[in-house]
Formats: sequence, C-alpha cells, structure tokens
Amino acid sequence: MAGIAVIGGSIMGSSLAYHMAMAGHAADLVVIEPDPTYEWAAAPRSAGGVRRMYGIAENIEMSLYGRSFYEDFAHLLDVDGEPGVFPFRELGYLHLVAGSKAVSEMEHNWRIQRANGVANEILDRATLTKRFPFLNVDDIDAGLHGPRDGFVDPYGAVMGFRRKAISLGVEYIQDRVVGLEHDDVAVRRVVLKSGRTLDVETAVNLAGAWAPAICRMVGMDVPVVPLSRPTFYFETMENIGPTPLIKDPSDISFRTEGGGFATGMTRQDVAGEFIWEIGAREHAYFEKVMWPALARRVPAFSTLKVQRSWAGHYAMNQFDGNVIIGPWIGGLENFIVAVGFSGAGLQKGPAVGRALTELLLHGEYQSIDLHRLSYQRIIDDKPLFEIGFKA
Ligand SMILES: Cc1cc2nc3c(=O)[nH]c(=O)nc-3n(C[C@H](O)[C@H](O)[C@H](O)COP(=O)(O)OP(=O)(O)OC[C@H]3O[C@@H](n4cnc5c(N)ncnc54)[C@H](O)[C@@H]3O)c2cc1C
Repeated sequence: MAGIAVIGGSIMGSSLAYHMAMAGHAADLVVIEPDPTYEWAAAPRSAGGVRRMYGIAENIEMSLYGRSFYEDFAHLLDVDGEPGVFPFRELGYLHLVAGSKAVSEMEHNWRIQRANGVANEILDRATLTKRFPFLNVDDIDAGLHGPRDGFVDPYGAVMGFRRKAISLGVEYIQDRVVGLEHDDVAVRRVVLKSGRTLDVETAVNLAGAWAPAICRMVGMDVPVVPLSRPTFYFETMENIGPTPLIKDPSDISFRTEGGGFATGMTRQDVAGEFIWEIGAREHAYFEKVMWPALARRVPAFSTLKVQRSWAGHYAMNQFDGNVIIGPWIGGLENFIVAVGFSGAGLQKGPAVGRALTELLLHGEYQSIDLHRLSYQRIIDDKPLFEIGFKA
C-alpha cells in the first residue's frame, strides 16, 4: 500500500514531498516521476520569476510565501548542514500600461496588493524615464513597479526540494503513470509503465501540462491544455545593465538573463499540443513581431542577436487562467489535483506544497484559504479572472 501517490515530482510534487516530510509524514507518500533530470518539465524551462503583482488575494499570498521561502531556500533546504547556494535576484518587476482602462485595472490591483502587505509603486511617465533611462515610454501612461520581486534558479528550486525530501526519507519512484484503476468512489490503484502497480489511498495529480491527460484516466474533465512557449535568449551591442522583468502593453515581456536578455511568446495557434521545436516560423515571428516591439520599448535592442532558444509548456487553464486545486469535487473523493498554473507556478510551488500538506493531513487549508480556487468554480461556471497583468 503506497498511501499517497504523488504523480509528477517537479516543483509541485517535490514541494509537497518536502512539506509532508517536514511534518513527519515522509513515509506516507511516494513520488512517481519518470525523469530525474526534468528535461521536459516546465519548471527548469521557466523564467524563474517571483512577483506579487496580482489582483486576487490568494495569488498574492501564495507568491508572498514563495518569495520568503526562496529568499531563505539555501538554509531551509540544507542537507547534512550543507546550505548550498541559492541567490534570490531582487531585480524587480515592471508592468507598463497604456490607456485609461489599463491604468484603472492596474490601480485596482495595486490597492489589493497594498492591502495584502505588498509595497508596489505606481510610477508616472517622468519617474519611469528617470529610473529606467534605457526605456522609451512615450506611449506609456503608467508603470507598476515591484522592486522586491525577482528571480530564482528554477532548476535549483526543483532539485533543492527533491534533494531535501529524499534526505528526509521520501521515496521517489522513477516510472511513469499510465493508468489509474478506480471504482465509482475512489482511485484504488496506480498503474506504472514498468508494469508495477501501487494500491493507493489517495492520488495527487501534479503532472503540470501532462496533468489533463492524467485527469482523463479517471474521467475528470479539466479545462487545461499544454501551451507551448518558446523563449529566445539574445544579446545586444549596448550594455544597458540588469533590468527588472518588464511586461509591455504589447504583452511581450523580457528580463535580464546572464549576459543578455530572455523574452518569450505563447503559441496560442497550437494550444493543446506539445510543440518543442522552434523553427523558421517562430524565428520569423520573433523578427517581424517581437523584435520591433522590443526595439520600440528599448532602443538599445535595435541591434540584437538571438543566441539560443528553447520551448517549455504552460499548463494553461482556458477557463479563467488560474490554478484548479484540491479534491475532484463531484468526482472521485481521493483524487486531488493542482493544475493550470500557466506562467506562474514556480513562485507558487512552496505555497502549493504547504497547502496540499494541510489538506492531506488536516482535511482543510490552514495557512491560505484556497477554496475559491477549487474545482467547484468549474462546476458552477464562475470564473475567477485576474485583470491587468496576466501570465
Ligand atoms: C517558458 C516558461 C516560463 C515560465 N516562467 C515562469 C516564471 O517566471 N515564474 C513562475 O512562477 N512560473 C513560470 N512558469 C510556469 C512554471 O514553470 C510552471 O507553472 C511550474 O513549473 C508548474 O510546475 P509543475 O510541477 O506543476 O509542472 P512541471 O514542472 O511541468 O512538472 C511536471 C512533472 O510531471 C511529470 N510527469 C508527466 N507525466 C507524468 C506521468 N504520466 N507520470 C508521472 N509523472 C509525470 C513530468 O516528468 C514533470 O517532471 C513558466 C513556464 C514556462 C513554460
């Protein structure tokens, strides 16, 4: 009897394993993860950004916990007294907006952020020019600056949680879930690619963009699809120094990455498919659409060279863009999910691991009440949209 089977051992699965182990329940779960290198998982392919720029309090609270956790990550996750190195790069986030509707949405979010203890600032055009002289803000009406936001090493985050969980006694099984046997009430057995089966009391689906396929194994319908997101890394002739993550009204965002910059696009045209290749079509899109937008915002980007590119996949919730977390309400009572993090799961990983631990051990959330993000809103057809900054 495996007790709790955690499906997927990337940032969500390993954070859950860590939090369960810290609560003294390492032996109650196994983590099933086919790839210990996490080559295709979204987490290590992500931008590693941690922001508190939301308008939904639960999202702010999750990222607040994520930020404080990552800031102290090296010490919290030391193994045998070896803290390791895990810098939090506090370069900030900057959301630029144009037009009265976008400004009022930004002000609405800003008030909620302030109420939740996040001291972000609204900057006018003159202040933007002064603080970020490399920007062209002629067409910008305001900017929301989160000076305490920043970035972490996403691969380091996954490996830190995993390493610590294993050191505390959690078992990782290198295998792939290919079936879930169930009756009308509950999941009873997990079937692995190797042919092995595990009798379970609870199954927790944390398989990211692959989670909808796991849901289909038990007949659960989730409005979540894989959404390919190519990232382009480029370098410029002119050194403008490190920048925050800047989100443009064109929806293009970019940030400092190593000696250059990283920017990304989402392939809405092929939503629902895993597309790993970045070919001539994507490069043409970069040159015709993204590059002009980047160069308009930062004149120094007029001369740039794309050095490399890679694709990852959002688990995109097409219903309202937010995570669906908790038990399958109206379905199998022991099937728990956390799916649909879009481009913002890395920062929520610590809070989600803690929330699911509370749910598994106490039957309720104790730190952050995530009920509004449950499957119930799908049943009720009541979406919970973020306005303004969307990942
Ligand atoms: C390009 C890009 C940029 C991003 N930028 C940011 C950012 O700046 N900030 C932020 O917070 N978030 C960002 N994200 C989002 C973030 O990466 C994800 O929300 C987060 O990684 C989700 O974690 P996860 O553990 O649910 O999924 P993943 O990290 O994708 O892991 C899923 C795991 O499930 C495993 N799995 C799959 N199928 C099975 C199976 N059948 N059986 C067992 N295991 C299975 C996989 O091997 C994998 O390890 C970005 C994502 C992308 C793609």
